[in-house]
Amino acid sequence: ALAVHLRGVTKVYDNGVMALGPLDLAVPKGEFISLLGPSGCGKSTALRLIAGLSPASSGAVRVSRHEGDVQIGHGIGFVFQEPTLMPWTSVRENVRLPLKLGGIAKAEGRARADAALASVGLADFADAFPRELSGGMKMRVSLARALVTDPDILLMDEPFAALDEITRFRLNNDLLALWRSLGKTVIFVTHSVFESVYLSQRVVVMTARPGRIQADIRIDTVEPRG
Ligand code: ADP
Ligand code: ADP
Repeated sequence: ALAVHLRGVTKVYDNGVMALGPLDLAVPKGEFISLLGPSGCGKSTALRLIAGLSPASSGAVRVSRHEGDVQIGHGIGFVFQEPTLMPWTSVRENVRLPLKLGGIAKAEGRARADAALASVGLADFADAFPRELSGGMKMRVSLARALVTDPDILLMDEPFAALDEITRFRLNNDLLALWRSLGKTVIFVTHSVFESVYLSQRVVVMTARPGRIQADIRIDTVEPRG
């Protein structure tokens, strides 16, 4: 079954910029794919269309719907390059926010936020404030917030680009372990060829704007997974 299916998708912004396509992309459930391509080729645009944050100008965007209890973001978790945490409240409350917006009761929301924080290695930081955390830890909080609704699909837009190399490598390994244990579909935008090959089962390379598929490479030369 497909998690995401884009067919002939284009995006022309209000200012006339043709950002994307036509783009055809089919992502099976559970696959971890990377999107690589020059700046401005439409990678973020593609993620926004998949997330339903912005409408396609033409073509079809199909995303398999979440069957679980909480449908926030239609079963999609989104991680941006900037963690965008609320500075005035605790790490736990930051992670609980999507559940709060989804009407989940406070006690359950807190328990689920704590479980999500534990899954990213931050069990001991639920009561901390964002300003007390390093860049890598803030990114972990952002990841926990994206996972707290148990989405089927995780969209990540250059999440680790601003981190130092060692922190980034640790996050790569932890993300890979999470993906193996949670079995989610991941679409990961990056400028790093290393990161794309290290993390994903499939690397999709886009052309310069308007972004189309230039190459679609299966990564099966690495050690077997899981
Ligand atoms: P990438 O993520 O590959 O760097 P983007 O999807 O961010 O590319 O942008 C693709 C193109 O569309 C760029 O030229 C960008 O300036 C333009 N663009 C992105 N968002 C908007 C918008 N909301 N309005 C107008 N132009 C936009
Ligand atoms: P619409 O196509 O319905 O007019 P857009 O796709 O233009 O909506 O806007 C999507 C989101 O991108 C909006 O939240 C907007 O604030 C944001 N945005 C606007 N301009 C840019 C830009 N140049 N680069 C990236 N994002 C932008």
